[in-house]
Amino acid sequence: MAEIDVIVVGAGNAALAAAASAREQGARRVVVLEKATRELRGGNTHYSGGLLRFAYDAPEDLRSLVPDADKQVSGFYAGVEPYPREAFRKDLLRVTEGRTDPELAEILIGRSQDTVRWMARQGIAMEPAVSLSAVRVGDILKWSPGAVIRARHEGVGLSAMWFDIVEALGVEVRYDTSAVRLTQDARGRVTGVVVRDGEGFHEVPGKAVVLGCGGFEANPEWRARYLGRPWDHAKVRGTRYNTGDGLRMALEIGALPHGQWTGCHSTPIDAGAPPHGDRKLTDKTNRLSYMYGVLVNVRGRRFFDEGEDFQFYTYAKLGGIILNEPSGVAHQIFDSKVTGLLEGRYKTGQPLVADTLRQLVEQLPVDRVSCLETIERYNAAVEEGRFDPTIRDGLRTKGLDLPKSNWAQRLDTPPFMAYPVTGGITFSFGGLRVNERAQVITTSWTPVPGLYACGEMVGGLFHTNYPGGTGLVSGAVFGRLAGAHAAGA
Ligand SMILES: Cc1cc2nc3c(=O)[nH]c(=O)nc-3n(C[C@H](O)[C@H](O)[C@H](O)COP(=O)(O)OP(=O)(O)OC[C@H]3O[C@@H](n4cnc5c(N)ncnc54)[C@H](O)[C@@H]3O)c2cc1C
Repeated sequence: MAEIDVIVVGAGNAALAAAASAREQGARRVVVLEKATRELRGGNTHYSGGLLRFAYDAPEDLRSLVPDADKQVSGFYAGVEPYPREAFRKDLLRVTEGRTDPELAEILIGRSQDTVRWMARQGIAMEPAVSLSAVRVGDILKWSPGAVIRARHEGVGLSAMWFDIVEALGVEVRYDTSAVRLTQDARGRVTGVVVRDGEGFHEVPGKAVVLGCGGFEANPEWRARYLGRPWDHAKVRGTRYNTGDGLRMALEIGALPHGQWTGCHSTPIDAGAPPHGDRKLTDKTNRLSYMYGVLVNVRGRRFFDEGEDFQFYTYAKLGGIILNEPSGVAHQIFDSKVTGLLEGRYKTGQPLVADTLRQLVEQLPVDRVSCLETIERYNAAVEEGRFDPTIRDGLRTKGLDLPKSNWAQRLDTPPFMAYPVTGGITFSFGGLRVNERAQVITTSWTPVPGLYACGEMVGGLFHTNYPGGTGLVSGAVFGRLAGAHAAGA
């Protein structure tokens, strides 16, 4: 059997982009090692919404990616705004509080559109991200700039398409096969991996190794170690297999950590969501329409400016904020004026419903006196103005210690609804330092020969927060780079 040119560890979006790229750049034998069984394959990618954030100068730039968009959504282009690189840069800088690694950010932003086009050429079909990004205004759907397109059939479709693509390219996928250790020669060059599979432990030699095996979000001990309390008991939104194995293997041979090891992406999800992602529900446990209502903790108090910004710029930090409230549970309260604006995903939940606010609060497992007082004070503080969900409308409260800065309307139109939420972890932010070739860098600040990393394993891009739809494009950008350079290693 021919020598393996590139071993790819993991089988999510980043790893399979690396495998396809390695084949494209001339690697003859590429082997993907997937820890999960075939039934549970595909990592977080399978659970994702498939949303792809990338820069484009004009709405027309999207046409070749979604040629049927006009047919699927009438007047599609009228609701799409340009999203030039500068806008992407500003978003990334703003939500990460200026801490994103500037070199990595430039690679991500600068290559974002070209890489999404490359994905399309590989065979990833795309569609308008209707249920995720669009708000209906009259006859037009208004889109959140930059977050307009997703993989067809979301993460489930994206994952299935990637497996079809790499299989057609002759890549061998070994399921139920965990990488446990990297092997090196005397000069430090990575020569392969030790795996554990159905036959036990053995060595798989290869000319280069690409690590695309996720963060440590599904490892409670690492969550406790790096994220601290109360992350050890957080629900995991996606795969149970991302337990930090690739990070551990790389750190063991001297890789340099990078980015925010105390940070993670985590979102408000249904408080009754299962402990790990459900393969059928996928991302439907998300509860991201909080900017149209009021969010209270079990003490009946507000603790977050629900209208700080659009959901795509606050949702990835709000999960952690909720988890850190007493008991880690909060309640999103809405009135019927906004029912039509709630994301379709709310249909997977069972809200408490009542005709008066008092009756609603009486059903909630919270400090009821305080909760009613909070809502009454909030209602009294709402200023007059025009509500507009398509812009930061400045409709705010006045005089509250914790304001609601946009989309503040009184809760005054029955029936009233409450959805219980907790914070679910999506992925950890801490990762490895890589260079512009996606090579893993050592603590001596030199690349490890033959070792590349991509996807959630790349540290430095995200801190505290994250602009929605960036994870998959980052995975594809660094996966494509890793695969291409590994092919020439
Ligand atoms: C519910 C949910 C919704 C999301 N929605 C979006 C979205 O709409 N847009 C967006 O951009 N991002 C989204 N994300 C984030 C995005 O899905 C992830 O950041 C991205 O999929 C990560 O890709 P990856 O290839 O790095 O990791 P993964 O897709 O998680 O793949 C990791 C792979 O490594 C394997 N593995 C782990 N350890 C080993 C080992 N020791 N040996 C072999 N294999 C191993 C796993 O089994 C898996 O196949 C979402 C995430 C979740 C959970």
